[in-house]
Amino acid sequence: MRDKIVAGNWKMNNDLAQTEDLLGNIKNELKPKEGVRVIVAPPFTNLYHAFESLRDRPVDVAAQNMNENKSGAFTGEVSAQMLTSIGVKTVILGHSERRAIYKETDELLAKKVDAALENEMEVIFCVGEELHERKAEKHFDVVRTQLEKGLFHLSAAQWEKVIIAYEPVWAIGTGETASPEQAQEMHAFIRKTISEKYGQQVADEVSILYGGSVKPDNAQEIFAKEDVDGGLIGGASLKAGDFLAIVNAF
Ligand code: PEP
Repeated sequence: MRDKIVAGNWKMNNDLAQTEDLLGNIKNELKPKEGVRVIVAPPFTNLYHAFESLRDRPVDVAAQNMNENKSGAFTGEVSAQMLTSIGVKTVILGHSERRAIYKETDELLAKKVDAALENEMEVIFCVGEELHERKAEKHFDVVRTQLEKGLFHLSAAQWEKVIIAYEPVWAIGTGETASPEQAQEMHAFIRKTISEKYGQQVADEVSILYGGSVKPDNAQEIFAKEDVDGGLIGGASLKAGDFLAIVNAF
């Protein structure tokens, strides 16, 4: 049985006081649901605090990015080893903002994936097409290429540490959501693509999250789809009430 997961990507939001506040509210109001994993991904400066604060709670902490190198002259960067040293064992890689704003390529992302897995971290790997690619009906090709270049060098065993997030770029932070049918169609395509390369068992065990303007009022409909195993939540993860309502949508 694959995990159901709701992960909150805080992006570059929340200073320390705001982090304490939001985590406090999440801790107070969270009613753990069997079979549903909850993850929060604060900015680097608040990861240590978040990890310590959530130590005895069923909420995991993820980083939003990391560098592919072990250490050295990479000003401003953070390594996998640094993250694991403070207890962080999950990292989001390939978010569309990293791809678009910071020009992270599939080749670079493959190296980041390797660095994470070498450090026994779990990876939430984001894929998704831009609006012009969907309009040109290239969305399946785009996502297949992102999967192939970023992840298909891995062994079947390494897939135990991989979670996929399908995030159509046109639905991120725009208020525009893929319809549950569009999400299901792409999630099924992703699972089929993985099964063609690695076999049905690996494909069946990978959690595939949907991301893109998930809100309390649309989460249930999206999560009800067969191949949607949860969500990667941006804006709505910044309010404890909304985030927990999405967790409770399962
Ligand atoms: C995201 O950035 O991963 C995301 C899904 O954002 P939002 O929920 O705000 O669209």
